[in-house]
Amino acid sequence: MVLSELGGALSQAFQKLSRSSSIDEETVKQILKEIVSALISSDVNVQMVKALRENVLTKVTPLLESDSAIDSSGRARLIEKAVVEELVKILDPGKEPYKLKKGKCNVIMFVGLQGAGKTTTVAKYCHYYQQRKWKVAMVCADTFRAGAFDQLKQNATKIRVPFYGSYTENDPVKIAAEGVAQFRKEGYELIIVDTSGRHKQETALFAEMEEVQKAVCPDDVVFVMDSSIGQAAAAQAKAFKESVSVGSVVITKLDGHAKGGGALSAVAFTKSPIVFIGTGEHFDALEPFNASRFIGKLLGRGDTVGLLTELSEKGVLDAVGNPEMQKRMIKGEFTLRDLREQYTGILKIGSLSKMFEMIPGAGDMMKNLPKGPNGQTVDPSVALKKCLVMMDSMTAAELDGVVEMNETRAIRIIRGSGATPDEFQKLMMQHKQFEKMIGGMSKTGLLKQNESDMMKQMKRDPKQLANQLQRSLDPNMLKSMGGVDKMLDMMKSFGDMTGGGGGGGGDFSKLAKLFGQK
Ligand code: GDP
Ligand code: MG
Repeated sequence: MVLSELGGALSQAFQKLSRSSSIDEETVKQILKEIVSALISSDVNVQMVKALRENVLTKVTPLLESDSAIDSSGRARLIEKAVVEELVKILDPGKEPYKLKKGKCNVIMFVGLQGAGKTTTVAKYCHYYQQRKWKVAMVCADTFRAGAFDQLKQNATKIRVPFYGSYTENDPVKIAAEGVAQFRKEGYELIIVDTSGRHKQETALFAEMEEVQKAVCPDDVVFVMDSSIGQAAAAQAKAFKESVSVGSVVITKLDGHAKGGGALSAVAFTKSPIVFIGTGEHFDALEPFNASRFIGKLLGRGDTVGLLTELSEKGVLDAVGNPEMQKRMIKGEFTLRDLREQYTGILKIGSLSKMFEMIPGAGDMMKNLPKGPNGQTVDPSVALKKCLVMMDSMTAAELDGVVEMNETRAIRIIRGSGATPDEFQKLMMQHKQFEKMIGGMSKTGLLKQNESDMMKQMKRDPKQLANQLQRSLDPNMLKSMGGVDKMLDMMKSFGDMTGGGGGGGGDFSKLAKLFGQK
């Protein structure tokens, strides 16, 4: 069972539970049986699955026995909570990872079997920290695999990170020591040492890793594990932990059709936390890992905290929170310049399909993403970039809506930006749609409300709010969001998770902006 199926199976079990009219020990055992079988068929370590079952039973049985006032829906929630807590426990060894020290020199050594994804992950890791303004460098201490240095060099060149390695020296220990020493002297904050792997756990590999470790004294050792190795993951993780001082784990290839459960649960054997997961071959396919948010996402509940963290780290929320724009939006105005600012902000996120995955209940929006010629999902970021190029060819007056766009100018913009007339047309229509939506919403007064008022209204009278939204939003746009109920659901979970209703920051226009754009 691949991970997405596992998520579906678990959600289904929980749904069944919440529909049961009476819940006794038998019901719980039955549900646990389903959960256990789903976890095992995703390769989650058998011992851990057994422990999960026992722990959940121990936790919930007293609740079921006592003829307390807990009704069946309360029971269902408690059982679900107990299962989720146990799942999180499997993925979280309860230890903080090594915290990089900004302004100091941090040496990080990457280890793992050949093909696990070390070299790729080293590049992604460097890219991740470089984007966050760290001064990074990489050292290639892999002299075992033919072409290893070239691979690292190519990656480093693409992401513009300095690198150290040698075509002639074949002692990895010497290269590692020299490279680290050089970058230390040059004041790098983050020096990554990529080491060689072997096809299997063997003595020569472990001996080499130990020597490199001794030579460079890393602040952290990151163990890279391929997610597709199934139940073999436990033994591998144990072997690495015993040989070098593994402090953090990265699980790679969690995109596609990996079962993943084996590697994910093997983290317990390293007694070290998973810090990132790799979700693709590109440099930005690396996601910070947090056990409870991962489980939330697996169960289709989104990862709002992760989303907000990412948005704020990349400075997107600053762009979204532009007070001038908000003032104009309250008045119902939305210029091409506003659209450009929105799109620029969104592009900072990277992949939009990734972002949709993090929004609770946004699965339907995923289905509505544009499809390529082979039916594959095309990330809308590509189209957004084109729009930006077109808007960059416009004059200030055109962007601010001071002058109307005429045909001559349209042709100039299309030529100047290398776009097609069709793409230009679409951009104009998008802007008109937004203008209309903002105009409509401005009339309802919704934009003036802050988030907590909005949440209160939603709790008090969701129907009325739904009607208000229905009246103010473009029907096509509403449809693409999966309908008004879906949108309310999304807003509700967003509010719950961001502490909305408790007067959390932000206002509804932020939500509209985040969700409203395709
Ligand atoms: P190394 O031998 O441990 O250094 O492994 P490499 O970094 O050379 O990676 C081996 C292969 O796995 C390469 O083809 C990578 O593109 C691929 N790879 C690494 N990480 C990921 C990932 O997260 N997703 C996918 N789909 N492929 C990955
Ligand atoms: Mg490699």
